Amino acid sequence: MKSSNKSGFQDNCGIVGVWDVPEAAHITYLSLFALQHRGQEGAGIISRDHGRFTGHRGQGLVHSIFNKENIQVLKGERAIGHVRYSTAGGSISRNLQPLWAESSNGDIAIAHNGTLTNSAELRKRLEAEGSVFQSYVDTEVILHLIAKTHGSPRERLQKALEQVKGAYSLLIMIRDNDHTRMFAVKDPYGFRPLALGRLGKGWVVASESCAFDLVDARYERELNAGEVLEFSRNDYESWQLPVSVPRKAACLFEWIYFSRPDSLVFSKSVYEMRKKMGEALAEIDKHEGLQADMVIGVPDSGIAAAIGYSHQSGLPFELGLIRNHYIGRSFIEPHQSVRDFTVKIKQNPLPENLKGKRVVVIDDSIVRGTTSKKINQLLREAGAKEIHMRIAAPATISPCYYGIDTPQKSDLIAARMSEKEIGKYVAADSLRYLPIKKIYEKLKVEERMCDACFTEDYPVPPESLGSL
Ligand code: SF4
Repeated sequence: MKSSNKSGFQDNCGIVGVWDVPEAAHITYLSLFALQHRGQEGAGIISRDHGRFTGHRGQGLVHSIFNKENIQVLKGERAIGHVRYSTAGGSISRNLQPLWAESSNGDIAIAHNGTLTNSAELRKRLEAEGSVFQSYVDTEVILHLIAKTHGSPRERLQKALEQVKGAYSLLIMIRDNDHTRMFAVKDPYGFRPLALGRLGKGWVVASESCAFDLVDARYERELNAGEVLEFSRNDYESWQLPVSVPRKAACLFEWIYFSRPDSLVFSKSVYEMRKKMGEALAEIDKHEGLQADMVIGVPDSGIAAAIGYSHQSGLPFELGLIRNHYIGRSFIEPHQSVRDFTVKIKQNPLPENLKGKRVVVIDDSIVRGTTSKKINQLLREAGAKEIHMRIAAPATISPCYYGIDTPQKSDLIAARMSEKEIGKYVAADSLRYLPIKKIYEKLKVEERMCDACFTEDYPVPPESLGSL
């Protein structure tokens, strides 16, 4: 994983697999479009028709990469696709996925969401054994491990995945003796989401359920940690990876920020989870006796939590900021002065709602602090009398090594400052984070999730990061 120069925790990647559905590549394209928020640097689709893999990949947004002509070339009823946000390997076109290789052992195509924590060692070993890599992405080690192994496709996949560590939700197509199988895999910790949907007589597998809605697929269920769905002919078989791990570790940040609120992720409505986090903040403020006139959410991911806060506290929910969706993301700009400007053109305050009001402002996180500071300045300039900033998550104190692009620890404001100091820095009258214990209580989470960026309790030691 590389450290980010960008302003915050950034989305990871999104994957889609379509099995036994006419125009599979077209369905994959639409589903990738629904997953665009998970990666904007590039996308690709590989389809299988009459035993042959055909692919198209490009840099940019899904709608700019695919058109009628190149989709029509991707024939067949089976396809996998990927939207990329570069967490490992950097953003050059050879790193776009799905990766794809022809070998004497059968053709293999792979799409990956996550980050492998031991990829550098594996790559070194594979190169010493003669493997030639075509990209810089960690995913390619899985491709080589499968290609080098003998046995049935299932045995080859098992042997390959026994060697990799870290976070991986995968879609893999393996063609073996003119018979193709698709494997949907979630790592034994279950870091990244992966769900199964039904479409006609076929199947769709995707990172989030919002990918099903656009193509009229029906959500079936979330894959279990360590589960593999092996699609062959017109059905699938479920089996578990023979790897045991000490705990489960589904990413808590998927609910807080990364996933779309209209998705089911880890079997739960993201919208409901965010609302509950807002309710939890309101419960604490009620207990502490906070006096305010209204609550607003920082669009987009702060809105659901603000609605929950409003329901619980009785304060009116208002729109205080309007987001312009049609500009580039603030992280595209490299210089601090430009980045502040981008915040301003991205979020525009509504003075008529804010003037003279004591405002509770709900956001999902404070990463470096610069964006929050600018937003609060905008709110004050628009007339807000008091700003009580509430974060619907604990303080982010440490980077992610499992598929999320994050600033390095020294750039995380909460790793250096106390809650009070941060409140002062972001120009708020008060600041409160949501304690991790309260999240587990409120969301009624039965199994421990990955919360390492809030607690530094890493489920998998980040052994070989930064050396790829
Ligand atoms: S470290 Fe944070 S962002 Fe990364 S997987 Fe864990 S909870 Fe998610």
